[in-house]
Amino acid sequence: MTGTSLAHQMIVGLEIHVQLATQSKLFCRCGTAYGQPPNTQTCPICQGLPGTLPMINQRAIELAIDIGLALDMELVSGCRWDRKHYFYPDLPKGYQTSQLDLPITRNGRLEFIDPTEPARRCHVRINRAHLEEDAGKSLHGEGAATGTCIDLNRTGTPLMEIVTEPDLRSPQEAKAFLQQLRTVLLYIGVSDCNMQEGSMRVDANVNLHIAVDGRTVATPIVEIKNLNSFRNVERALEYESRRQMQVWQENGQVLGQRPKQTRGWDADREVTTVQREKEEAADYRYFPCPDLPPVVISAEQIAERRARLPRLPQQWKQALVERWQLNDYDAGVIVEQGREVAEYFETVAETSRDGKRSANWITQEVLRLLNEQQQTIAQFPITAARLGELVAAVSSGELDHARAREVFSLWLERPLSLAEAKQRLGIAAVSADEVTELVQAIVGQNADAIADYRRGKQQALGPLIAQAKRLNANVSPGSFRAALLQFIAEQDPV
Ligand code: ZN
Ligand code: MN
Repeated sequence: MTGTSLAHQMIVGLEIHVQLATQSKLFCRCGTAYGQPPNTQTCPICQGLPGTLPMINQRAIELAIDIGLALDMELVSGCRWDRKHYFYPDLPKGYQTSQLDLPITRNGRLEFIDPTEPARRCHVRINRAHLEEDAGKSLHGEGAATGTCIDLNRTGTPLMEIVTEPDLRSPQEAKAFLQQLRTVLLYIGVSDCNMQEGSMRVDANVNLHIAVDGRTVATPIVEIKNLNSFRNVERALEYESRRQMQVWQENGQVLGQRPKQTRGWDADREVTTVQREKEEAADYRYFPCPDLPPVVISAEQIAERRARLPRLPQQWKQALVERWQLNDYDAGVIVEQGREVAEYFETVAETSRDGKRSANWITQEVLRLLNEQQQTIAQFPITAARLGELVAAVSSGELDHARAREVFSLWLERPLSLAEAKQRLGIAAVSADEVTELVQAIVGQNADAIADYRRGKQQALGPLIAQAKRLNANVSPGSFRAALLQFIAEQDPV
């Protein structure tokens, strides 16, 4: 194998199929739930029987508009439906109803954080996003069957196919873009984006621009189909980059000298393998679907969807920075976890009125546990309101951090009120008189430290607070410190 050190640039464009979170299919009333017994969610329309007519699911149109708004796209009123013909056993009509030259949305963009330089933002242009129906599934040798069976439950499920311009330049950029896209789609609630269940599937178009003798040559474009995890996207692109460089060094073939090739990613062997020489659009014999009217989108409908559109991740982040004074990093960590975590944070911060401390508890305790237990925030045993109370108790000095952690641990086991938890842990309320006695006792034993403090040595009080804790484990450092400072001020020789 020859060296691969020639200067080159990877050029990547992505096509992402996202299953829309509708209750029913795109052109019939069948359900879309995942994992149902085969062929229990079908009807004559999605089975493609002759004599049936499709009807358009308005919810799918609404969700498509939401995607258009979130990705800053132009919405195309009067967009058309086209038939894309090909033969496959799981496509009973013999064509897929899709959109060719008038997609429902086009010309958008999405910003994301540069993976190599977090302070910088990149953007990718979105060429188009169109509506289409999904095909069925072929089940090879599953169950009692010895051959191949067809399950049409998925046939006719609504998809948005989001097509980017070839603006990505590395596997890491492709991954960062996809993560951001997924976060946006989850925030606006248009899809569950569950990659294991196939609700989000990625095709990557990739080639190399290689610098040779002061000019640039482009290798033939390869499309890698059906990548079902971000990790696979990254690894498949890394592999394909090396492979294209090697093939070019062997045969010198450049873009245009061979048709576009479709390859698949073999995750076990970590290679891409040839599937077919790609059909061009003409091979599909696209033509406008005579059964479906164009989709009219009114200005009122757009305004209504815009008014209902949930806050986007970047708007959330800005709100967390401005309203709760979080730094960019903490706000980013919280927002990336998804809308439920951002909402959880907001409730904790509103209850405690202490944004910074709320963020610390969530990023350091809650998220760590969710990750360890593979839980979602909805499954987390401590409600946001309760954690907010705990954070407030720490902020006010009522509890120190160590005690608060004990309460937190107890709450993971049982849903008690803060008062009940304190009682169970023996965290008794300490009266003002008891605090005063403690202050007098400690001041009496630490004349040197008090003198140091008076000379401006702030840290001289630290050991006194620790000593107070030892004498009475229930005293809160905050209230002891306040009482101590007051005592010193009153004794101050003026
Ligand atoms: Zn149906
Ligand atoms: Mn498609």
